[in-house]
Amino acid sequence: MTTRTFFVGGNHKCNGNKASIKALVSELNKVESKSNVEIIIAPPSIYLDYTQSLVDSGKIQLSAQNCYSETKGAFTGEIAAEMVKDLNINWVIIGHSERRSIFGESGELLAKKTKHAIDIGLKVIFCIGEQLADRQSSKTEAVLSAQLGDLKSLDKKQWDSIVIAYEPVWAIGTGVTATPDQAQDTHKYVRSWLKDNIDETVAAKTSIMYGGSVGAANCNALAEKPDVDGFLVGGASLIATDFSTIIKSAS
Ligand code: PGA
Repeated sequence: MTTRTFFVGGNHKCNGNKASIKALVSELNKVESKSNVEIIIAPPSIYLDYTQSLVDSGKIQLSAQNCYSETKGAFTGEIAAEMVKDLNINWVIIGHSERRSIFGESGELLAKKTKHAIDIGLKVIFCIGEQLADRQSSKTEAVLSAQLGDLKSLDKKQWDSIVIAYEPVWAIGTGVTATPDQAQDTHKYVRSWLKDNIDETVAAKTSIMYGGSVGAANCNALAEKPDVDGFLVGGASLIATDFSTIIKSAS
């Protein structure tokens, strides 16, 4: 039994439209969750304001899927953290594997984005995860250590605004989930990294979500693990019944 908050995040990625969001949110607004659970949904940024107008804000928070490291300016196509905050949205996902691999975002850029987002008052879901080849060659810990190491320039108290999402790249959108033991072992490693490199209190307090093909059928076994403090869900977060089951899996 953990005292950490159990976060369940729905990462809609580049999916949905006004009609599907309306239908999804009207179902999610009815979900009863345990008191230690925070529900966060991340629709495409163009729909954030619309989604905000539909959610029961006492139950569901919103997150952007990305934002930039600068306040404003000539950055066509980007959104600033300040704009997210201006919509009264308090969360942003940074470092998702699709941002890293498809859009080539470097650890240095992700650290700048994270620092800036926290500086202006957002909370960050910071994603890390290894490729299949890394796991097969026993490099998982080295990869995660390097990705977490990008955040070493943060002040210790800025860690209060971070939730980590461990998402093995080989499990994202593939239907292959990490086993509960694989997730637990890796989360335990992440917590030990925090203890060794930040401090013991941060290690104990920071929630670590698991992401990668989480669904209604596998969430309960994963949620039982002591270092699994929630889920970041892609595909299943678009299906109200599945996402509701995942929300209720909180231990
Ligand atoms: P998935 O995506 O649940 O569809 O595997 C998870 C994620 O990318 O956050």
